[in-house]
Amino acid sequence: MFIGHYGMALALKRAEPKLSLGTLFIAVQLVDIAWGATILLGLERVQIHPGWTAATPLQFVYYPITHSLLAAGLWAAAASIAWYTWPTKDTSGHGRAALIVALAVASHWFLDLVVHVPDLPLAGNDSAKFGFGLWNSIPLTFTVELALLGIGLALYLRGGSRNHPVRRGWAVGFAAVLAAAYIATTLGPPPPSVRAIGISAIAMLLTLAAVGGWIDRGRSTRATR
Ligand SMILES: [Zn+2]
Repeated sequence: MFIGHYGMALALKRAEPKLSLGTLFIAVQLVDIAWGATILLGLERVQIHPGWTAATPLQFVYYPITHSLLAAGLWAAAASIAWYTWPTKDTSGHGRAALIVALAVASHWFLDLVVHVPDLPLAGNDSAKFGFGLWNSIPLTFTVELALLGIGLALYLRGGSRNHPVRRGWAVGFAAVLAAAYIATTLGPPPPSVRAIGISAIAMLLTLAAVGGWIDRGRSTRATR
């Protein structure tokens, strides 16, 4: 799953306006950012297998540190605690916002579950593995990914307030570019190396978070993050 995670972030922004879209973009993709690091460090393993599934040539051989259900829960708890304890003056509704951060991080596993072939472990690599395998069909993959992004964007655009104004043009433009880039990459050639996957995953996901934070920067004088 890729753009669907951003749909989730856009929707959660409406559930908790206090959270910046930049924070939410990092949260929903936190385990993929970590995965970029673990494959570069050799702690987790992925292989490039053109044709492994219709939608991706990546065969996830070993990734319980970032993509087991147990790990998703631990990453969610850690991110939530980090967010909650981060120094800030604006502590109103802080506990609720920290819960939404946890939800955003944990949502990654459940959205991945829809598209991955059964390679997502419950805990260790030897535990039961799950995945509904939507990646075996490009039309189904695109339909679900685009629908999730579209629903999230619609919810995001419908919300907004004086304190948290919506930059409609930028938000729609961002979603359109993201969707086009995702479709082009999926239909394009496989990545050249695992190293390239790791570096580009980290760089791209952090860049998207920076763009999200920028799009979300309203004219509010209240501190938001
Ligand atoms: Zn993932």
